[in-house]
Amino acid sequence: MFDLPTARPPPVSPAPPLDAFDLIIFGGTGDLAQRKLLPALFHRYADGQITDAARIYGLARDSLDDGGYRERVRAALQKTMHDARAAEALDGFLALLRYRTIDLTSDAGWPELAGELGACDRVQVFYLAVGPDLFGHVGDRLQRHGLARPCTRVVVEKPIGRDAVSAAAINDALGRVFAESQIFRIDHYLGKETVQNLTALRFANALFEPLWNAGHIDHVQITVAETVGLERRASYYDRAGALRDMVQNHILQLLCLVAMEPPASLDADAIRDEKLKVLRALKPIDAHSAAQLTVRGQYRAGAVEGQAVPGYLDELGRTDSRTETFVALKAEIANWRWAGVPFYLRTGKRLAQRVSEIVISFRPVPHSIFGEQPLSPNKLVLRLQPDEGVTLWITNKVPGPGGLRLRNVPLDMSFAETFGGARHPDAYERLLMDVVRGNAMLFMRRDEVEAAWAWIDPIRAAWEASDDAPKPYTAGSWGPSAAVALIEREGRHWHEDAG
Ligand code: NAP
Repeated sequence: MFDLPTARPPPVSPAPPLDAFDLIIFGGTGDLAQRKLLPALFHRYADGQITDAARIYGLARDSLDDGGYRERVRAALQKTMHDARAAEALDGFLALLRYRTIDLTSDAGWPELAGELGACDRVQVFYLAVGPDLFGHVGDRLQRHGLARPCTRVVVEKPIGRDAVSAAAINDALGRVFAESQIFRIDHYLGKETVQNLTALRFANALFEPLWNAGHIDHVQITVAETVGLERRASYYDRAGALRDMVQNHILQLLCLVAMEPPASLDADAIRDEKLKVLRALKPIDAHSAAQLTVRGQYRAGAVEGQAVPGYLDELGRTDSRTETFVALKAEIANWRWAGVPFYLRTGKRLAQRVSEIVISFRPVPHSIFGEQPLSPNKLVLRLQPDEGVTLWITNKVPGPGGLRLRNVPLDMSFAETFGGARHPDAYERLLMDVVRGNAMLFMRRDEVEAAWAWIDPIRAAWEASDDAPKPYTAGSWGPSAAVALIEREGRHWHEDAG
């Protein structure tokens, strides 16, 4: 008797419960906490990974008591809750929450907080869901009030600075108080299933790695396209722009994971060492090359998904901003594996479709035996959002008589179908639990952040020195026509699913 292969892999077993821990969210009433962090913690509680022994604190200046905070969080969670099983867990989760009024720029309330947190007998995570101008204050006060201890971990959100100098200043301020191993710099893109799966695809399958180089890969595309405009972040965004907001962190991290050499192990530093080498091997783009290798744009009024939307300047309420809401650029990695392989990167707001994907485009076959029929090169598409999954595009014979007709078809691996339609955990769920477990694999080390800025800063400087304004594009399009020209003048096209 043969064992027949099963159609589905066995069900994924639930994550084991974590030991008791404390999570203290500075900025516990803010958008990030309410929309991302607390829903993520709630789902981990509903799945049994967080137990009733955990304590979760929200901290901000607003004067609320525990009851008022719980009601606020209840309302936020009810917006994201989709199944009855989760609703049953809501009261249990809310009971873990406490609220303390603290102004991070003053010492009031800290001794009481320190007394309440007590001995260092459980992991204590301090999540800085506040603006980066407050990071230094948090570090100083944690130290002054005896809360910078071996059990302490701090989580910081982007933006870590606005250039290499300010990033180094933030890192120095944190580094004066905490060891590097206690600092978790979060980039939520790294918590996405597809991004983690990239590491599995590359290093757990013998199939791809022999092809993963300039000999077989023609080019790589990374697209992070948003349909939204400024939302509530106008003043931050206008000071940052797309290059700082998206390319310096998310997109360069994705590029590193595609391009890095196989690490010796899954150890956090083994992976981060390899990512750092990629960042350091990026060919500099400077004042001479920026005009050829980069395109920046700013959206004008248009229609996104059938809705009329105003242009960037109208949304901002100003007429003089030169902030880019779109970037496309051609990056190159100067090393043996990637010499001559362009990495086309693009990101923007108010684009035609919300999609984040990485496209690995393989070289064509060296010789076609199929006469005049055009052959499409293979592509491996890793989609991060909206529906995470991996697709391998291969050329197949069209079934039936009528000659050997060929068609490019997708070999689809939708996570939802393959893994039994389970709920898709948000990236923050994985990342928060990794902080508690002390697993830094998916977090950025100081030198990575600074190396990324060192590559970005000259591009910014070149733009600022130039008289050119960002190129206009219509909201709901795929960006300025120059972004299409950037890739098409080299005989390539943006992957059709995304544009
Ligand atoms: P937000 O909605 O403005 O919330 C800021 C929080 O900080 C509020 O709870 C605020 O409450 C508190 N706060 C401000 N000043 C304080 C002070 N002096 N002492 C104590 N608490 C203070 O901002 P956010 O959108 O949540 O963003 C927080 C951080 O995460 C920012 O660095 C942002 O760039 C980053 N981030 C956010 C997102 C997101 O999706 N929202 C995504 C990525 C990164 P009170 O005013 O009541 O004190």
